[in-house]
Amino acid sequence: MVVPSVRPVDWQVLQVVRRLGATPQHKLAERIGRQRSTVNGAVQRLLSSGWLNRAGQAGEGRGRPAILLAVNRRVGCFAGIDIAAEELHHAVVGADGVLLDHASSRLGEDRTFEAVLNQIDLNLRGVLSRAGMEPGKLLGLWAGVNGVVDERGVVVTCASLGWHNEPLGDALGRRYGCDVLVQGGAPAMNAAAESLMGAGRDVDSLVYYHAGRGIAARFVQRGQPLAGATQRAGELGHVVVEPDGPKCACGNNGCLEAVASGPALVAAIRRLPRRDLPEAVRTLLREPDGQTAAGIVQAAFGHAARRANRPLAALFARATDHLAMGAAMAVAAYDPEVLVLGGYLFEGSPALRNGVRRTIQKMVLDWDKRSLKVVQAEVVSQDRAVGGAAEVCQGFWASPHGAPVSG
Ligand SMILES: [Zn+2]
Repeated sequence: MVVPSVRPVDWQVLQVVRRLGATPQHKLAERIGRQRSTVNGAVQRLLSSGWLNRAGQAGEGRGRPAILLAVNRRVGCFAGIDIAAEELHHAVVGADGVLLDHASSRLGEDRTFEAVLNQIDLNLRGVLSRAGMEPGKLLGLWAGVNGVVDERGVVVTCASLGWHNEPLGDALGRRYGCDVLVQGGAPAMNAAAESLMGAGRDVDSLVYYHAGRGIAARFVQRGQPLAGATQRAGELGHVVVEPDGPKCACGNNGCLEAVASGPALVAAIRRLPRRDLPEAVRTLLREPDGQTAAGIVQAAFGHAARRANRPLAALFARATDHLAMGAAMAVAAYDPEVLVLGGYLFEGSPALRNGVRRTIQKMVLDWDKRSLKVVQAEVVSQDRAVGGAAEVCQGFWASPHGAPVSG
């Protein structure tokens, strides 16, 4: 949907009504600091173009009841699409940011770019139609993918789908005729979602610390993620923590990711003598890699925590120290109110979460003087689509649509 250029005063009225919720028309002029006749003209234009609607009446003692004005939820909508490793999640919010509907489905066998675009289209049309909307009403679209995305919305790499240099932003923008925001990397997406609707919804500053396939931290202050000059803020995974440690995919030796990420821990478990491993872990190690990394680490660490299995316990203690070092670096760099632990290493291993929580207290300067809370991530993939749709909605209202046109 092409957003019509509105006069600055019309946009001002819309902004105020959106911020205040249902508002009596006579309150608008004083809020905006314009003449009542100017504001009434704007209200008439917005009512006839469908951006505002009448949302009931407010009785105010004597005199005529005041008509309440509200942003018309159905004048347009925003959608969020989360392309996860095995699933697609869709969410649609109305023009006023209220969630209208959401749905999930498994990705089909064919994971090529074209095939996934077609599945997105089919599912998105379904969710839109259930919400009483249509693709022509989309005002903005958010798409998230577990991979590296450049600033033009090109998916540079997505290992789980086997994508390289796929122009996701352009393809979606052409298909739906609206602005598209593409975000890559679970840490960035989860940090935004945690701040909006998860463990960080009531605080000003949070660090989301992710430990799974990769390791990274993301900082959000007053709802704004810190991206850095080249979108690399918080890439702690490639800080060298053991100069003589194992080779990392980036070329260095002993990066945090090379010693403590999910794949690194699976490799370390594989190097242990088989007789030192519980049967459940040995069974998992025989299966193809990738899908079972989370299961292997969780089973091994669960066993190490329950029984005194020395080689596993030593591995577990080292991983705890390494992951705590990464968390301590993030806390030292950003001084957040909340540290959110997410990613499959933390999700499946309460013992690891507790170990990291205990260990960083010893590593962080002035622990007692901080008001830091260490909590578990709350957001699941389904929420990321909702969070993404809400994010483009916020971006839409924050942009100056009315400014270029003279009033
Ligand atoms: Zn590295």
